[in-house]
Amino acid sequence: MKTILIVGGGFPGLVTALSCAQLGYQVRLFDVKESLMDSQNHAFKPIVINASSWRLFSALGCSDQLIEYAYPLANMHVLRQDWARFSFNADGHRFPYLGYVIMGHQLQNTISEAVLAHPNITCYLGVKLTALDLKPKPQLTVGKRSFNGDLLVACDGMRSWCRQQQNIPYEQKSWHKKAMIIPTLMKEVSTDAYLRFTEFGTIACLPTQKSHHQLILTAQSDHSLFTYESEHIQTLAQDLLGDIGQINHCEKPVVFDLQEGFAPQVATPGMVLLGDAGFSIPPVGAQGLNLAFYDIGVLADLLAESLSTGQALASKRFADRYNDIVMIHHKNLLDRVGYLVNLFNLQNPILQVGHGLGLKIMNHVGLFKKYIAEFGMGLRYPVPSLLRGRQPDVYMRVKK
Ligand SMILES: Cc1cc2nc3c(=O)[nH]c(=O)nc-3n(C[C@H](O)[C@H](O)[C@H](O)COP(=O)(O)OP(=O)(O)OC[C@H]3O[C@@H](n4cnc5c(N)ncnc54)[C@H](O)[C@@H]3O)c2cc1C
Repeated sequence: MKTILIVGGGFPGLVTALSCAQLGYQVRLFDVKESLMDSQNHAFKPIVINASSWRLFSALGCSDQLIEYAYPLANMHVLRQDWARFSFNADGHRFPYLGYVIMGHQLQNTISEAVLAHPNITCYLGVKLTALDLKPKPQLTVGKRSFNGDLLVACDGMRSWCRQQQNIPYEQKSWHKKAMIIPTLMKEVSTDAYLRFTEFGTIACLPTQKSHHQLILTAQSDHSLFTYESEHIQTLAQDLLGDIGQINHCEKPVVFDLQEGFAPQVATPGMVLLGDAGFSIPPVGAQGLNLAFYDIGVLADLLAESLSTGQALASKRFADRYNDIVMIHHKNLLDRVGYLVNLFNLQNPILQVGHGLGLKIMNHVGLFKKYIAEFGMGLRYPVPSLLRGRQPDVYMRVKK
């Protein structure tokens, strides 16, 4: 049985472990944390799982457990002024919803349970890795013990130790912006998500359970709102939401910095960088983790293919094929997030009115709405088997 070594048990690490184990690989998963469950890292994060990623969870046998905590997103509205609105939804045929919102700790716990119960996965928790070699095959060292594998998947976050050990370039930059997440009880229940461009940034309103919502405010890091008292924040949030909804009560907010990081190549012979280790963008478009799930789908197809062809996983050809398929999507997403940041930075009132007009006009262009909805639902081509809701077949599915 071939062995996959995985470093990092965040969402991408756990999902990679499950998808490799279901293909019949032996998986060894390493994390510095003592436990995979109840990560405080994720407790405050509302995670949007787009429609394609949801299919991946269904193929991995986790969607029945996740649905208990997941809130379906029917419609998404992008607004600037009250009169400027662009709305889209799923096509209703292939996908009932654009995606689902789930709180990070519930996602983490549900996938962790599946990982811990899987007979092909062995977890090594609370370990400090001391060395990493990729040639001739990947080898990880923990103190005096060494672990050999056929492929190493580094899912150890933005400051990836594995990436640094191999001196793989990573371009990192700060957006000089911060986001504030405010758990909020709204007066009405809504199934719709909203993103409003404001004079100084954006406010997003995501429904979670019943009338619970997560408000996400973004602005320049030095904006005074990050120093406001809770009451003042609630008043500001209500002003910005306008007719989107009436706030009943805001809870204590959490603030974090927005930054991006990008490896020009995420695969090298013997190792693949996945999740924030290879590509990280701020969650303003709720896309980063979903792109990681796409990458996992591509990896699973290539792993399935190599089971039938016998191709070495640590070969240059394997790494090149993986890069060829995924890098184009990383670059596209970075470009599109760049457009979003330009809109976000629009300070000139005349340009803001122009943007509002653009939203209003595009709201009548069906094809454009379809294109945006498909992008939001994570439809990237070629669509890997897991993102079609199927286990990869053990023959070639992904073509260059
Ligand atoms: C508030 C918020 C909301 C978000 N919402 C969305 C969303 O809606 N949609 C979306 O697509 N994305 C979203 N994201 C982004 C998403 O959370 C991240 O992309 C994702 O969590 C990255 O996971 P990761 O496992 O790559 O990194 P991390 O979560 O940083 O996990 C890294 C793991 O590796 C382990 N580790 C680190 N170093 C080592 C080492 N040397 N040895 C062993 N283990 C190690 C760590 O303990 C950890 O378990 C959001 C992010 C935030 C902050």
